[in-house]
Amino acid sequence: MLWRVYVTCLILVACAMGFACLVGVQEVHATTLTLNWVQTSITIAIMMGVVALVITYRIARQFIQPSEQLAEGVRCLMQGDFGHTIPVAGGREFSTLTESFNTMSERLAATFGQLDRDREHLRTILLGMIEGVIAVDNEQRVLFANERAAEFLEFVPEQAVGRKLWEVTRQRAVQRLVEKTLSHSGPYREELDWKGPTVKSLDVYVARLPGPHSPGAVLVLHDITDLRRLERLRQDFVANVSHELKTPLANIKSSVEVLLDGAVEDPALRGGFLHEISDQANRLDDLIQDLLVLARIESGESGLELETVEVEEAVHECLDRHRTRAEAKRLNLSGVALAACPSDLAIIAHDEAIARILDNLVDNSIKYTPPGGRITVRWDSGSDSVCIEVADTGIGIPERDQPRVFERFYRVDKARSREMGGTGLGLSIVKHLVQAMKGTIQVSSVLGCGTTFRVCFPRAVSSTLP
Ligand code: ADP
Repeated sequence: MLWRVYVTCLILVACAMGFACLVGVQEVHATTLTLNWVQTSITIAIMMGVVALVITYRIARQFIQPSEQLAEGVRCLMQGDFGHTIPVAGGREFSTLTESFNTMSERLAATFGQLDRDREHLRTILLGMIEGVIAVDNEQRVLFANERAAEFLEFVPEQAVGRKLWEVTRQRAVQRLVEKTLSHSGPYREELDWKGPTVKSLDVYVARLPGPHSPGAVLVLHDITDLRRLERLRQDFVANVSHELKTPLANIKSSVEVLLDGAVEDPALRGGFLHEISDQANRLDDLIQDLLVLARIESGESGLELETVEVEEAVHECLDRHRTRAEAKRLNLSGVALAACPSDLAIIAHDEAIARILDNLVDNSIKYTPPGGRITVRWDSGSDSVCIEVADTGIGIPERDQPRVFERFYRVDKARSREMGGTGLGLSIVKHLVQAMKGTIQVSSVLGCGTTFRVCFPRAVSSTLP
């Protein structure tokens, strides 16, 4: 452009000079001027020509440069360099245009910057959500997937973008739901049981992305595995309670019926049936008491006020309460502190809760240890915690049942437990009490050799360090 204007000016100057020379030569012929005068005229004409050339170049440059800068600025904007500004130059028209361009470029930079920031915020929110989010286009190609969605549907989020949904997840139910949403208008919600390496329940909600010609769909996945598990637990619990209550009630009812049918008149039979009624009523009472305790602990209403409880004293009181039963079964019952423990070793706990825990564990040991066996309660301490173990040489618990013995109504051998008068709630109560006092409980057992329950609690600072 610059050169085109410049060459045009140049031609004009050359024409002017040629014309001047022509006029000069004609003047020479027409007048009697000397050759010297002609040479001077030509030199002046050439000098004027050179000056004219320089001036023309400068004018052409001043005129062309701003429009070239403008063109360069537009090119930069097209390449995404928002905020690119050009120096204000040229005449009034050019400087107004340049200023407008610079303002537009700055506004574009601000708008795109805001859009980028908004997009980044949205991305951070989506990535941090506990729900899984996947966006797909109308051909089911993944546009976005957050970490949670990848975790739920088991894929690598970085590799999912740009791939078809069916390549990313093999879950036909999810694909069907997306297909249905893309071909029909309404959002759809379905509960799916994920059958991957781990069993999960997912609540999947799919809605179409807004815009004409169905631009795609967004999936929101919510993990409801825990919710369903809790529901199942509640249902199982209700079923178990009904079952546990039904059995003693049925026994009481049948004994009463037999008595009413005439057995009440027979002194030999009457005693047996009345004993049966009393036993079953006691069992019902135990069960209801245990259920009430469990409900109170679980609701957090037990109001366990933590205080300092001396371990040795608590253990010996418990052993005293069980000595008669243990002796009746010829069991060796003893309590022993490990050598390093101070005599006033104490824990931060609730004394009644500790008594209940120890009673339950020792009671179980007595129930499940054959005559002639040994039950030892021993304790040891670390700098922050104190652990108490109840170890027996009883029948033991199979390995597969060990994690489940703390569940409500879980019994390894149902018949044996009932025969022993157990409610199946003892260890569940123990576990809840231990947790309510910020403690931990573990079980280790070898079938046929014996079982050890180990409970640990925070150590009270008052006890003398070893
Ligand atoms: P239960 O009232 O039936 O004793 P628990 O909740 O106290 O209920 O115990 C659950 C189950 O754990 C028992 O039924 C029993 O099978 C098993 N168990 C608990 N303690 C022992 C133990 N010391 N030795 C062997 N089995 C035990």
